[in-house]
Amino acid sequence: MGKIEKNYEKLSFQTRAIHVGNKIDKETKAIKRPITMGNSYELPYDPSNLNWSSADGNLYTRNGGSNQQYLQERIKSLENGEDCIVLASGVAALSGLFFALLESGDHVIFSNVTYIATYRLLNELFNKKFNVQTTIVDTSDSKAVKDAIRPNTKLIHIETPGNPTLSISSIREIAKIAHENDALLSVDNTLASPFNQRPLELGADFSIESLTKYINGHGDSMGGSITGKKKYLDIIRQQSQVNLGAAISPFNAWLIMRGCVTLPLRMKQHNENALRIAKFLESLPIVSFVSYPGLKSHKNHEIANSQMVPGFGGVLSFGLNTNHETHNKFVSNLNLITSAVSLGHDESLIVFIGENDERQYLYFEEFHNGFFRLSVGIEDADDIIEDIKQALKKIGLL
Ligand SMILES: *Cc1c(COP(=O)(O)O)cnc(C)c1O
Repeated sequence: MGKIEKNYEKLSFQTRAIHVGNKIDKETKAIKRPITMGNSYELPYDPSNLNWSSADGNLYTRNGGSNQQYLQERIKSLENGEDCIVLASGVAALSGLFFALLESGDHVIFSNVTYIATYRLLNELFNKKFNVQTTIVDTSDSKAVKDAIRPNTKLIHIETPGNPTLSISSIREIAKIAHENDALLSVDNTLASPFNQRPLELGADFSIESLTKYINGHGDSMGGSITGKKKYLDIIRQQSQVNLGAAISPFNAWLIMRGCVTLPLRMKQHNENALRIAKFLESLPIVSFVSYPGLKSHKNHEIANSQMVPGFGGVLSFGLNTNHETHNKFVSNLNLITSAVSLGHDESLIVFIGENDERQYLYFEEFHNGFFRLSVGIEDADDIIEDIKQALKKIGLL
């Protein structure tokens, strides 16, 4: 931020994405803050009373370095939260939250559709290793969440839109259920990004982002964030950042800060492109289904419409009425769209999730024959459509 150092809350999202966390560098007068790679900071005259595990101020980069702090300021502002922690990856943010908040004997409810590591952490690690009780619930049905509550339910963790099926859960309704039962709600907001959806404004206690995806947006760095109330974030920072050590590298924090400047512009294009491509796919007879929250045919379109403003993001999933092998042939004939994991990049990426995926049983029936997750990039939508058309033609499906 040049000379505007106060009252930036009054500025729009788009302006804050550029200015918050940046300042003119005092030493060099450079208009962008530098990358500080030094991992230690000079100690005061008498350091003997310092708390070596302190996350306040600059002591050691694992406890909190300058580039990390600048990025935290920005994400906190974009999520409209009280405090923010930026860590090494989205999974570091998820595991950091679970590790700091959950105790043996606590109960957690989590979405049937989540990022794979969330499933592994809660369903295979926290329950077996730390005796945390876990229940997988179709959280697109708020009543099912209510029915799953136990007296010891400490946390409800939802992902909306859910990766990879784009299932939608109501943040407002589930926040109410959580709070009526003295539980906390965390939302993995990665597929929406704070441009399209701000969980804290809808009543959630934590918003988690994989910064690796839309916020960085260029497919060239990793990071994760947790935004929410300071009283909880102080605990998470202490336990999961300082003591578990999932600190982000200053270079990655700087890259994400740079990528984030164009988040609003990119999201507008992702929203527009994905809606067009979802409608195009829906018009093809060979396509068995399209799941995109922006389509009227989406089961929870109304809920998506009420909590995702101004758009529905760039990720969609769809199926083809064909056999296993032809799915792979389709992908191998794409020229522009790349077959790779991850999402939210500038370029379009596709993944074929086969019918043998171990979590298939957790998804709605239309997903059981295998499907694609397509992360629509910000290329010209006509070029993306043309690429899909020519690949379908080559294998005789169009
Ligand atoms: C990618 C992703 C994550 C994990 O983020 P990393 O930065 O890869 O660790 C978590 N949640 C969702 C929804 C994701 O898509």
